[in-house]
Amino acid sequence: MDKTKRKTVLAGNWKMNKTAKEAAELIDELIGAVGDAGCEVVICVPYTDIHIAVEKCAGTKIKVGAQNCHFKKSGAYTGEISTDMLVEAGVSHVIVGHSERRQYFGETDETVNLRAKAAVEAELTAIICVGELLEERENSLTESVVSRQVTAALSEMTREDLTKVIIAYEPVWAIGTGRTATSEQAAEVCGYIRGIVENLYDKQTAESLTIQYGGSMNPSNAGELLAQKDVDGGLIGGASLKASDFKALAEAASV
Ligand code: PEP
Repeated sequence: MDKTKRKTVLAGNWKMNKTAKEAAELIDELIGAVGDAGCEVVICVPYTDIHIAVEKCAGTKIKVGAQNCHFKKSGAYTGEISTDMLVEAGVSHVIVGHSERRQYFGETDETVNLRAKAAVEAELTAIICVGELLEERENSLTESVVSRQVTAALSEMTREDLTKVIIAYEPVWAIGTGRTATSEQAAEVCGYIRGIVENLYDKQTAESLTIQYGGSMNPSNAGELLAQKDVDGGLIGGASLKASDFKALAEAASV
């Protein structure tokens, strides 16, 4: 399938940044900068910013996402948030399995799968993050790690479910480090992920899937990364917090 027929999605991951007041200011800038972007734009904000983000982005092309969700509908899960809560708040996307959750908060392939399935069941689009550690890349384990993570994350999901899934290839060594994967590395692994999905499902499902690259993407490297045939947008941390940078990335993603 022609890449232009797939959805290109630029998603900002704000992580634990911006109070609601600060978020309101940034969103005002973002509406001017990317409110009519030629690609799909999502901002994944902290829970406390969801309300203001949904209110301000209403009527613009910017969608609002969360950074995690729990797999139970409700109950004694202190500190967690349910998909129903997110849907009612007006969220359309949710990141699951970000490497910071895997590294610092004990997220496993199994819980990533449970969270992704819960998101899709609630009609949210799950942005599932996968990617290898530096030592895994150095030991030529990138493909086996990514294959394990993708296969586990999609376990028990149907072809239909895959229409509500985005996979973000995020090499852990490139996240927040200023060290970006080369466009060849990004293209190679994103293409490899598409092959895994084809093996698990079929060609059509694989060809329709949006696969993002994430890891220190910025205005100077975005053009080359986003031009790769299997890279359908980006998951962006640092550069999503500066409207002018995010605008430059949206322009690169919209070509
Ligand atoms: C991320 O956190 O998903 C990310 C890609 O961060 P950064 O762009 O800052 O590397």
